[in-house]
Formats: sequence, structure tokens, C-alpha cells
Amino acid sequence: MRRRALIVGNWKMNGLIETGRGLAREVLAGLTEREERKLLCEVVVCPPFTGLADLNQILGSSSLKLGGQDMSEYPSGAHTGEIAGIMLRNVGCWYVILGHSERRAERGEDDALIGRKTAAAFRDGLVPIVCLGETLSQREQSQTLEVIEAQLLAVLPHLPDSVSKIQQLVVAYEPVWAIGTGKNATPQQVQEVHAFIRKLLAEQLGEGSAAKIRILYGGSVKPDNAADLFGLDDVDGGLIGGASLNATDFLAIVDAYPNDF
Ligand code: PEP
Repeated sequence: MRRRALIVGNWKMNGLIETGRGLAREVLAGLTEREERKLLCEVVVCPPFTGLADLNQILGSSSLKLGGQDMSEYPSGAHTGEIAGIMLRNVGCWYVILGHSERRAERGEDDALIGRKTAAAFRDGLVPIVCLGETLSQREQSQTLEVIEAQLLAVLPHLPDSVSKIQQLVVAYEPVWAIGTGKNATPQQVQEVHAFIRKLLAEQLGEGSAAKIRILYGGSVKPDNAADLFGLDDVDGGLIGGASLNATDFLAIVDAYPNDF
């Protein structure tokens, strides 16, 4: 079953206001030329927090949506340096990336926190894109599926009661060793993990929800490998880092999604 694809650009800590403006305008212009693609693929960019309000003015209700790169688990209050989900909504965000491996590694975010942030995202009206992924040493020790299972099972108890909301959840499989390294997971490795995630979702949430939840792949996705990855049964789009900083490359990745919707 083909779900509507989701292609998300994670700009990470790159670009000042003007750079972000230029990039978003180029991507939006490209999407505007691709009427049919827009039906196949939902496209989102996640700029640094400082660019969100500005891009919200530019993008308005266009087909290019905005997402945050992280959020606080708290709704408001004495949490210096944090951004609440409702603040992201206030500047036009629909989505929020949670549990990115860079935050797990650099900020010590653990599965329990990512579970609480997932609940907070739903509470604040955002769709969470929850990142899962194994390190190279975990893969080499054949622990990949075990790690993915533990990361996913930590999040699922935090989902809301409403089935229609649960089905909005987005899961992103991002092997840590493939992020920003130019190393590609093979299509077989990707499909194995995505199918495993879908099976776990079915066991925990039921077949109906598992069939609707989108599972993205992330890790050095580029225009030349995107079509092979997006052609896989359980890959419903991508979380794109480096290549999302170049509008031509990002749009070529959007174009790589198959037409058999
Ligand atoms: C990411 O940061 O989520 C990512 C997948 O980065 P890259 O595409 O650069 O590997």
C-alpha cells in the first residue's frame, strides 16, 4: 500500500535569515511547477528556530510546510533556552523532529525523554517525526533490530488515545553511521528495518494504524540514490539533511519518489 510520501528537509544549524529565505523561495517555486508531485508528496522544511517566523510569512498557506527541529516536553515556564510546541505552532509549524541522533549524542536525550516529547508534540498540535537508528558498533554487533525495538517501544505508550491522531505519527529510520557521512545503507538493509518497524507497529497498534503510519528513511539521501530507496515497499519518504540545503538537489529528491501512487 502506498501512503502519501513525506519528504522533510532538516536544515540543522545552517543559514541566517536571508539564506533560509532564498532556499525556501527556490524550493517553493520548484514545487509550484510540480503540480502532480504535490499530490504524491508532502514537502516540509525544518529551518533553525530563528528562521521560522520569517519563513511562515513567506510560505503562508503554500504547499511547502514548516517543521521544528526539536521542542521542549513542557508547555511553558522556567525552562531557559527551550521552545514549546505551542510556540512552534504559533510560527506556522505542522511537524517537529524528535530524537534526532545528533540530539541523542550531543544533548544526552534518551528514549524516555523522547517519549515525553512525543506526547507533548501531540498535546501541542504538532505531528512528531520520531527518529530511530543504530550506531555503527551496534550494527556490527547485530544489535540493530533490538535497538530499534527499544527506541520505538519507548515512544508508543506516549501516543494519544485517538486512532486518527496515532495514524499521523511519523517514524524516521536513520542509521547513525549513514548520517552526514556519505555512507549509504543498502536498499536491503533499509527495507529490513522498515519492515521490522511496520511489524512492530502492527503488533502494538493494530494493522490499520501500522498501514497508515509513514516511515521515512534518512542518512545521506541524495538525488542519485533516492529513487532506489523510495521504491522500497515500506519507505514512505525521506528525512534529508545535507542535500536539503541545496534547492536543486532537494527538488531532485522530491522528483525521485515513484509515480505509482
Ligand atoms: C539528518 O540529519 O537527518 C540526515 C539524514 O542528514 P544527511 O542527509 O546529511 O545524512
